[in-house]
Amino acid sequence: MGGLTRLSTCDWPGQLAATVFCQGCAWDCPYCHNPGLRPARASARGSVLVSWGSVLAFLSSRRGLLDAVVFSGGEPTLQPALLEAVEEVRRLGFRVGLHTAGMNPEPLRQLLLSIDWLGFDVKAPFADYARITGVQHSGERALASLRHLLASGVEYEVRTTWHPDLLSLEDLYRLKEELRSLGVAHYVIQQFRYQGVRPLLPAVSAFPPLFDCSGEFQRFEIR
Ligand code: SF4
Repeated sequence: MGGLTRLSTCDWPGQLAATVFCQGCAWDCPYCHNPGLRPARASARGSVLVSWGSVLAFLSSRRGLLDAVVFSGGEPTLQPALLEAVEEVRRLGFRVGLHTAGMNPEPLRQLLLSIDWLGFDVKAPFADYARITGVQHSGERALASLRHLLASGVEYEVRTTWHPDLLSLEDLYRLKEELRSLGVAHYVIQQFRYQGVRPLLPAVSAFPPLFDCSGEFQRFEIR
């Protein structure tokens, strides 16, 4: 683990959660909010190693006080021990949420049998993913993962971080159509936030005024 937030009200909207940050991610999005978590191993720069034992001890002291535990990252599905960790947390009586960008479809399919909620990051129209992740074929993996999610019946939100240098208004509308045709019901657009991000993109002050999905998803939010 690269970090632990002891109380979060936003990592799983509506739940009082502790958030466990898993170290390591194979993609390289310019707007990554946790760049210190990208290397496979924590280093002196940016991340602090947290032992699983200390996380379990903390959670044991919060039974009845917290609703849930969210595994975030980095990319949690790259951790071979994640399913075991999820089951340990469930045995303590917590609901379990997961954040993923969908880069590891088969482990995610297994995890969907054991979690209660998924926050799924969609980067771009699926053919355009490499422009943001820096990794060829990343969109194919994300699409396979999203299909697993939608087939699972697990509660979720699909969300996209928008920056005008990465996604044009036309890209956003193409992406919206792709998500609608897949059957996504809950979609969130997140505005790019400059704080904590590597200085690769200029700050953005406003959301594109012409983009509106109201009425096209069961739930649509801009945050
Ligand atoms: S997939 Fe997520 S954790 Fe990985 S680089 Fe992109 S934003 Fe950061």
